[in-house]
Amino acid sequence: MTQPLALHGGTPVIGRPLQPFKSMGSAEEEAAASVVRSGVLSAYIGAPGDGFMGGTYVRAFEKKAAEYFGVKHALGVNSWTSGLIAEVGAIRVEPGDEIITTPWTMSATAMAILHWNAIPVFADIDPRTFNIDPACVEALITPRTKAIMLVDIFGQSADVDALKAIADKHGLKLLGDTAQAPGSKRGDGLTGTRADIGGFSLNYHKHIHCGEGGILVTDDDKLAEKLALLRNHAESVVQQDDPASLANMIGYNFRMGEIEAAIASCQLDKLEERIADRQRVAAQLNAGLLGLGGLSTPFVADYSTHVYYVYGLTLDGAAREVGRAALIEALKAEGVPGLMPGYVNVHRLPIFTKQIAYGTGGHPWSLREDRSFAYGTSTCPVAERLHDGDFLGLNLCMFQFPEDEVQLVINAFQKVWSQLDSLRG
Ligand SMILES: *Cc1c(COP(=O)(O)O)cnc(C)c1O
Repeated sequence: MTQPLALHGGTPVIGRPLQPFKSMGSAEEEAAASVVRSGVLSAYIGAPGDGFMGGTYVRAFEKKAAEYFGVKHALGVNSWTSGLIAEVGAIRVEPGDEIITTPWTMSATAMAILHWNAIPVFADIDPRTFNIDPACVEALITPRTKAIMLVDIFGQSADVDALKAIADKHGLKLLGDTAQAPGSKRGDGLTGTRADIGGFSLNYHKHIHCGEGGILVTDDDKLAEKLALLRNHAESVVQQDDPASLANMIGYNFRMGEIEAAIASCQLDKLEERIADRQRVAAQLNAGLLGLGGLSTPFVADYSTHVYYVYGLTLDGAAREVGRAALIEALKAEGVPGLMPGYVNVHRLPIFTKQIAYGTGGHPWSLREDRSFAYGTSTCPVAERLHDGDFLGLNLCMFQFPEDEVQLVINAFQKVWSQLDSLRG
């Protein structure tokens, strides 16, 4: 006898809470305690001199991060949102300039652009990888385009070779947001290190974290210097007498604390192990969900490995006919956690559709009397179709997912798919 769906009064497949993701251990405990014992929780000074680049733990973490990512410069910051703001500030942008980015990302990517009074222009995404589609980027370039901001979404690299070729051809800077794909590999390097400036989040929900934090990476000495200035009150330390060579010298406090740096350093040691664990979960899910009608498991591009921040499924055929909302309702009732109905369509957020970034007069768009900017529905059809119905994500960052619990998730999917007909209509 088939067990009825939990949605229809049957017993849920997953009857107990899954083990929450346990990210901290004794190494982090000891590292944080040693900073506290030292009494120096931050050694930064916002003036020229020895304290300008931070304290012992910040510098040690940055050295370790630069070695791991294979870059010349790694700079710790207090959040990755801060890191993104610093990226855009470090390149030369004039108010009203355009930066092309993806709508399928966390809003911070686009807000960092707006922050400098530049205008985000959204290129549609590749339906298989969910990353920005290089073919859509080139068509959007104008004389006012200054950069491409790529995002390595869900755990794998965007098509950075193609994007770099476009950037080089048009003299654009390439910026990167690799918050969700630290340690993923492409070619003989790591994802996130090919852009002029890139970086990673150390927020609580990311692969590795220190509560709040981020890492900027670049191979460019000049850009690294600019990032260090923006991080630490640039306005109070710039003493060059050639203002024309400088731009965007608004200084911030984006400094990482010593406790965060000490913890982040321990976390970096665990990144490879954590990635292997996520890949184990994904492989088990791939095998277990194989053959469920209308369900496609994550596509991995041949130029990147996948580190599975999100396990992104797509629906078509039978599954699409039933509809994502009904599937999610049924899976939730069976106890499946972390289901994501769509992701983000940044281009449809009111800040863009209503152009309400600064004040009420449409700034910074109002700087551009020569053209208008189209946002909202029907401007990025692939991202919209996925967000509105064809994408079903499984957030892998909240749970430990030992093998037996992954099997429960698979069992729940199999049960729901065995009774798709009962969900119709
Ligand atoms: C998490 C995330 C950010 C923001 O990072 P914070 O450290 O939380 O500020 C930016 N972009 C993407 C794609 C993210 O996933």
